[in-house]
Order: sequence, then C-alpha cells, then structure tokens
Amino acid sequence: MPSPGAPRPDCPFCRIIHAGAPAKIIHEWHDALAIVPRGGECTEDHLLALPCGHVVDFTTGPVVSATVQLRAAELAQRLGGQWNYLTSCGLDATQTVFHLHGHLVPRAAGDGLALPWSHAAREQEPAR
Ligand SMILES: [Zn+2]
Repeated sequence: MPSPGAPRPDCPFCRIIHAGAPAKIIHEWHDALAIVPRGGECTEDHLLALPCGHVVDFTTGPVVSATVQLRAAELAQRLGGQWNYLTSCGLDATQTVFHLHGHLVPRAAGDGLALPWSHAAREQEPAR
C-alpha cells in the first residue's frame, strides 16, 4: 500500500507532477500546481489546481484540499476577474480523475455556462 501522498503511476496528474508527462503548467508552488486541463476545458482559461501529493478527493485530504483552494484563490486573485471554484468527490459528483483537483472557471455575464448542479427538471417546477 503506497504511503499517503505518494505518487501513483496509474494517476494522470501524478504522471504530470512526478514523471514529466506533458501539461501546460500555469503556475507551480512547492505544494501545488495549476495546469490547463487537457481537452476538458469548459471555458477558455479554465484551469485546474492540484496538490503535488496524491490525494483522491477533498474528503480524503481535507487539509490538502484547503491548501489547494488557497493556491487557487491566490492565482485567481492574481489573474483577476470572476470565478467558480469547484471540486468533486466521486463519479456521481462528476469526478473523472481521482487525484484531488479544483476547477478554476472564469465567468462573465451572459457566458451561458451551466454549473454542474443545474437541475433541468427542478428548473421546470414553478416557484413556491
Ligand atoms: Zn495522483
């Protein structure tokens, strides 16, 4: 059993961080990395913030998750603008890579981007 935080050879983010797999790196800290998602951008300038150590999701590494959110906030503040910061735990919650990561999604008025928790059926219901 690998130790907590140890790189996993089967993890695409660990391969970027520890094995030189190709990625467009936007910023590096000693404990985290910001990259451009490969092929999965939901908007232009969508970024991912991820810890250097392997943690599956925010529930398995809450302190690591807080650090990653801090790094994402530092980067978003430096870049300016308005953002969503999103992270997921589990397939049903839209997690597709099981190495903790936060999505930094730039937002603009009228961008038409629906958040993952939009619920079309509920939006059809009349307000009570
Ligand atoms: Zn990993």
